[in-house]
Amino acid sequence: MKRSQLATTAPGPAGIDPAALTREQLLGWRCALCGTLLAGDRPLGTVTIAQGPTLTTYPLWACDPNCATEHAWRAAIGHAAGCEACRTGECATGQRLLDAYTAAFRQEREGGAG
Ligand SMILES: [Zn+2]
Ligand SMILES: [Zn+2]
Repeated sequence: MKRSQLATTAPGPAGIDPAALTREQLLGWRCALCGTLLAGDRPLGTVTIAQGPTLTTYPLWACDPNCATEHAWRAAIGHAAGCEACRTGECATGQRLLDAYTAAFRQEREGGAG
């Protein structure tokens, strides 16, 4: 999904729209990509935001090692923790979430280098 870029903001790293970032994301409390509270983080680069005549540059942070992987993993274990069917290994939802995690992990390994 692409947002229209504001003229007053420089384009951020990794396709980030600085205008869409929250204060918590700018302050490095939350992932700049997905908004999750950061536990482990990795630097993404900086964005410069104009507030009136003042230009402020913020360093951005993202989930470490990878948003998609981490979120897929959290979704899978979060579901399994409260799911009876997952304990017997016969849960379609749990399997789907695990598959999503595996796919994200694989994609990261194979596609992350280039
Ligand atoms: Zn993230
Ligand atoms: Zn389940």
